[in-house]
Amino acid sequence: MNRGARIAVYTGSFDPYHLGHQNIVRRASRLFDRLVIGVGENPEKRSVFSQEERVTMIEELVEELPNVDVRGFSGLAVRFVREEGARVLLRGIRALSDIEYEFTMTLTNSTLDEEIETVFLMADKEYGHLSSTLIRQIAALGGDLRGFVPEPVIGRLEARFRQKVGQA
Ligand code: ADP
Repeated sequence: MNRGARIAVYTGSFDPYHLGHQNIVRRASRLFDRLVIGVGENPEKRSVFSQEERVTMIEELVEELPNVDVRGFSGLAVRFVREEGARVLLRGIRALSDIEYEFTMTLTNSTLDEEIETVFLMADKEYGHLSSTLIRQIAALGGDLRGFVPEPVIGRLEARFRQKVGQA
């Protein structure tokens, strides 16, 4: 990658990756020379899919976007952004309710590393209501996941929740 390349790192848990995330990724891939999707690991939260599963799933879904890479990370997001040679931390934003959290995180991150700039893309009108939490709830209740997550994620979510019911 040439020295002046504009690189952005889009961080999140992506548990699961849904159509709102995919929309942000597509749009950002046109705005930046390279986009890295940073799949976070939060030891305090139990995820539906392991970090490795999430990385593999997202890799398949962005295969057609040549300037997009997927990497797992743990620890500080600003540190990961630097490790990737970027200065832009990308986040998506939905309703006003997201602002408070994102505002706190942005100020915290700029205190940790003032050279990292957080950039927001607003959710597309079709996807502004989507969240991973909502999708996990629909999956747990056996609802139809079309229109929420990309096709390949549907089967995996259904299988994971069938397993959970089987274990209960
Ligand atoms: P986290 O676990 O870091 O809060 P998520 O994995 O839920 O994040 O989402 C990653 C990023 O994508 C966050 O910036 C979040 O605000 C954004 N995002 C989530 N859902 C949507 C959506 N429907 N449209 C646009 N951006 C979204």
